[in-house]
Amino acid sequence: DALLRAENITRSYGNTPAVRAASLSVTAGEVLAIMGPSGSGKSTLLHCLAGIFTPDSGEVWFDGRRMDTLDDARRSELRRTAFGFVFQFGQLVPELTVTENVALPLLLGRAKRKDAHARAASWLERLDLAKLGGRHTGELSGGQAQRVAIARALVTRPRVVFADEPTGALDSLTGEHVMELLVGLAREEGVTVIVVTHDARVAAGADREVVVRDGKVTDPYATGIVR
Ligand code: ADP
Ligand code: ADP
Repeated sequence: DALLRAENITRSYGNTPAVRAASLSVTAGEVLAIMGPSGSGKSTLLHCLAGIFTPDSGEVWFDGRRMDTLDDARRSELRRTAFGFVFQFGQLVPELTVTENVALPLLLGRAKRKDAHARAASWLERLDLAKLGGRHTGELSGGQAQRVAIARALVTRPRVVFADEPTGALDSLTGEHVMELLVGLAREEGVTVIVVTHDARVAAGADREVVVRDGKVTDPYATGIVR
């Protein structure tokens, strides 16, 4: 059954609904791709699932508990402990080194500096980034920056990783490699992955894909969009 589930959620900007009565669920360990045209509501849906936005109506459930009714502090605690995030442009902190960026979520969780850095180093090793630990993020290639972002998303051992166009800023070969790494590591760790992408090759690496149209989740098999 579902690890994370949105039921009939609607979310508007002003009076304009971006997500309209959408329902979606993912099971533990599943890799789900969310596809759909630009402006269809994919990001807004992802933000609702991740507890970054609360829906205007409908319900979001995580691990058997209602999530959308939690207060801000509890939702942010849940995000910090159970979720990891990878965005299109990595969103690394430029003032920090690569190691410091990866260690950051652990430090925010009040880990000891030494432990956090040791764990960050082991993830950097796993992603073939060991030599770049002391660099600043501005010195990295796009692919390297996204690998650092993946390490940072996984270092806290989240239950779910949310990725919003994680390969969007990369050339297609690098993008495919980054997606393979993300999916491979997630499977090794048993992490659930929800990835928003417009790239069919990225979606091909997922267990299942859904398509968002006009703020609604549609089954690609039913709409004939399937590859
Ligand atoms: P997608 O991720 O599929 O491109 P989004 O969820 O980003 O779609 O956007 C869905 C709709 O909501 C679009 O019509 C977009 O213009 C609108 N929208 C997104 N963000 C905002 C915002 N901050 N303010 C107003 N409208 C927004
Ligand atoms: P210690 O850190 O005392 O050697 P463990 O390695 O068992 O003990 O881990 C202690 C805590 O650190 C646990 O909560 C575990 O979830 C977390 N942890 C351990 N290894 C990692 C890792 N590679 N990435 C993220 N968290 C980790």
